[in-house]
Amino acid sequence: MPEQTPNSCESCGVAPRPFDSVHYGSYGGPSRLLCGRCFNLEAARRGGLVDFEHIDFEPLTMSDARGREHVFQFRTHLFAAGVAIDAIELNEDQSEGYCFKVIGDEEGDLLELLARLVTKMRRGLASSHLEQGAHGLQISDRGIVRARIESDPEGETDMPVVVIDGRRISWDEFGRMVATYMGFQFKLELHDLSDEI
Ligand SMILES: [Zn+2]
Repeated sequence: MPEQTPNSCESCGVAPRPFDSVHYGSYGGPSRLLCGRCFNLEAARRGGLVDFEHIDFEPLTMSDARGREHVFQFRTHLFAAGVAIDAIELNEDQSEGYCFKVIGDEEGDLLELLARLVTKMRRGLASSHLEQGAHGLQISDRGIVRARIESDPEGETDMPVVVIDGRRISWDEFGRMVATYMGFQFKLELHDLSDEI
């Protein structure tokens, strides 16, 4: 049995990355802390997925439209509807910047799924929605914003933050950006992170 520390995986003993651990167990019953890899192997065994193969992908650095570099960590996760790969950019304060997700068949080719994810990342990084204006960040001329809704652990209210171009923007700040469009109308659509938008 590997030596255990309070935050290490209870199966392999390795400390999981902060965004890649799972409390695995029945609701209300005891749960075990597992790293993403051990969780997937356990889920595959329980689900009888003989062809599922877990792969740990190395971090990848990609540049955005302005030449800024972003380092992405990957997380592979088996769930009821298939397998998901997430690409997560972790900021220095451990908050998440850019995030991308694809979902595929659990016994399909993970490398093919990763290729699909990288294409999606490239497309996502190529378009920027904010630009620096005279009064700070503003919505660019195209008038389109793609964003992710996140909670704000440091906020005094339960208002979310939005992540646009990999940057966390407070709800107030976003309101200020939209305020320059007074009298315009807009369309708000909500999509799962795995959708193409
Ligand atoms: Zn483990």
